[in-house]
Amino acid sequence: MMRQYELVERVQKYKPDANEALLNKAYVYAMQKHGQQKRASGDPYISHPLEVAAILTDMRLDESTIAVALLHDTIEDTSATRAEIDEIFGEDIGALVEGLTKIKKLDLVSKKAKQAENLRKLLLAISDDVRVLLVKLADRLHNMRTLDHMSPEKRARISEETMDIYAPLAGRMGMQDMREELENLSFRHINPEAYETVTRKLKELSQRNEGLIRKIEEELGELLVANGLTGAQVRGRQKTPYSVFRKMQSKSLSFEQLSDVYAFRIIVDDIPSCYRALGIVHTRWRVVPGRFKDYISTPKQNDYQSIHTTIVGPSRQRIELQIRTRRMHEIAEYGIAAHSLYKDGEGANGEAASPRSNAYALLRRTIESLAEGDNAEEFLEHTKLELFQDQVFCFTPKGQLINLPRGATPIDFAYAVHTNVGDTCVGAKINGRIMPLVTRLNNGDEVEIIRSGIQVPPPAWEEIVVTGKARAAIRRATRAAVRKQYSGLGYRILERTFDRAGKSFSRDALKPVLHRLGQKDVEDAIAAVGRGELSSLDVLRAVFPDYQDERVTVKPSPDEGWFNMRSAAGMVFKLPGRARADGESGPEALPIRGLSGNADVHFSAGGAVPGDRIVGIMEKDKGITIYPIQSPALQKFDDEPERWIDVRWDLDEANNTRFMARILINALNEPGTLAEVTQAIATGDVNIRSMSMTRVAADFTEVQIDLEVWDLRQLNQLIGQLKELSCVSTIARVFA
Ligand code: MN
Repeated sequence: MMRQYELVERVQKYKPDANEALLNKAYVYAMQKHGQQKRASGDPYISHPLEVAAILTDMRLDESTIAVALLHDTIEDTSATRAEIDEIFGEDIGALVEGLTKIKKLDLVSKKAKQAENLRKLLLAISDDVRVLLVKLADRLHNMRTLDHMSPEKRARISEETMDIYAPLAGRMGMQDMREELENLSFRHINPEAYETVTRKLKELSQRNEGLIRKIEEELGELLVANGLTGAQVRGRQKTPYSVFRKMQSKSLSFEQLSDVYAFRIIVDDIPSCYRALGIVHTRWRVVPGRFKDYISTPKQNDYQSIHTTIVGPSRQRIELQIRTRRMHEIAEYGIAAHSLYKDGEGANGEAASPRSNAYALLRRTIESLAEGDNAEEFLEHTKLELFQDQVFCFTPKGQLINLPRGATPIDFAYAVHTNVGDTCVGAKINGRIMPLVTRLNNGDEVEIIRSGIQVPPPAWEEIVVTGKARAAIRRATRAAVRKQYSGLGYRILERTFDRAGKSFSRDALKPVLHRLGQKDVEDAIAAVGRGELSSLDVLRAVFPDYQDERVTVKPSPDEGWFNMRSAAGMVFKLPGRARADGESGPEALPIRGLSGNADVHFSAGGAVPGDRIVGIMEKDKGITIYPIQSPALQKFDDEPERWIDVRWDLDEANNTRFMARILINALNEPGTLAEVTQAIATGDVNIRSMSMTRVAADFTEVQIDLEVWDLRQLNQLIGQLKELSCVSTIARVFA
């Protein structure tokens, strides 16, 4: 077991000014708290946090991370509390230890289906500080190294979780050594037979090829020196059992068919030397085609840089080669942790350093690469992380992580934060820039929602958003707004219907009969009446089942002289013909210019009035028909220009002829309506030629009226007056 002074020395080796007091305090505190606790192996429990701390010193992490490693199990497993740790070590360290405590609780959930959710929470937890994750990985690595003392079930569960989540996570964070070790340890427990076989064959191979790695190292090294690259280091190794096994699986090869079991690294001082080394190697040995990759000019998302190539090397072995600088090597080994080495800007060899202020951006990129999948063949095919390829991870300005399905918009983001935020959202800033609300969000975007005091989300948003939560909320908000519009009208209709029946209407009266009307609540029912979906009479009958319906029929007295009712059943009314307002009968010259001879001239079915722009059409056996140019009937003459006649009105001041125009009114279906409408028409000095009604909905009636007016001005005035009537819902002129 590592002693207190040994730990301090290890840290001081790479960080001479490390806070020694902090390390000592954490060591003593953890030692006291864990006391006599034992691990499954029988070792004192304290050996575990010490080993975790040791792993992190290999990654050369700062003293506060090392202290957190020492303390990482204290809240969960001992009498220690967050408050106590805050008091002794400060809130920063307290928060980190608490983060680890939270993740540990997540570990207990092992069901596969839950893992996706787990990882999400894990990411949420680390969005505070990436050091939590570094300690967690070191913790997991030590637990995997000492897994043999656990029960078989526990071993399997922990190994699967490691393979599914932690190993890929380490890879994504650029920590390749950590990833490989986690994979191999998991492999050993998940598939013991395969592990044994591959390991045995690798051993046999290295015995058969004894000294081969050394030999190739020497030959490569000498070649580089001979060509002037004196500072180059060459390191060879056999691939790990798991990477060999994975290759066998993915390529369906037997062990014997695998050609490249050896990998070599050439490490040089600077980038120009990388390309020189590449040139030297390629000149001397044959290159295996299709294997060359330059990750120096195009680094991977996790900052990995190297040149990859495969050659047929000395002894005719296929050899995988990685060429990189020392700095690149450190990043490849330690990944995200390597950045912390240079956080004070002390970059090696003048290469780019990551100042501490970059930690947040770095974390974002990590999460991005976790979700993105830059190199499927390497990780994603083999990990559960592919679950996250259809998601994007975004941030609020305060750094809260919001995960959304791919294709999500700022509107989805707003609703994910809170329904209120969504409902009042009017704009969005993405990474500080105002962007359209239809913008698709990308991983790592920081989204700031611009809100207004009140705002009903436009119904069209429903088509834009991708999350169910946003869609449901928008639908709810729009439905409420539309319902408000219709409920006023519905209330009035109900009041009148009840009134007519000698009953009084109230919202309370509706409550007991809602189920019979198929309505969820009173407001829904009232709005349904307003929309014409529910008949007010049905409501009346539901509330008063005994009510005897005196069939509501329109029965204006013929004595009034307005019109005669021809058929009560069909609701068709015919007025006494008034083709000519002057009361005279017989043909009369039409006041229209452009006509010649004694052509038989008449108006189209919808009529036309002075002021209308008109056109004449010659029709066989029908003479000339005058149409307003809005008439849809004109379309069928489009291809026969020879039949079109230019005509215009020719009226003098003393015009005493009325002209027919047809209108269509949508009105409330009640007897008073007809009287109101006809009254208004009469008051406007307009004649009614004919009128027909059709019941189109329970509470609404369509009334078509052929009017006789002096001119367009008078007609428009009348239409304006009718529109004002409370019983009139819509009114429009009909052109036939
Ligand atoms: Mn632990």
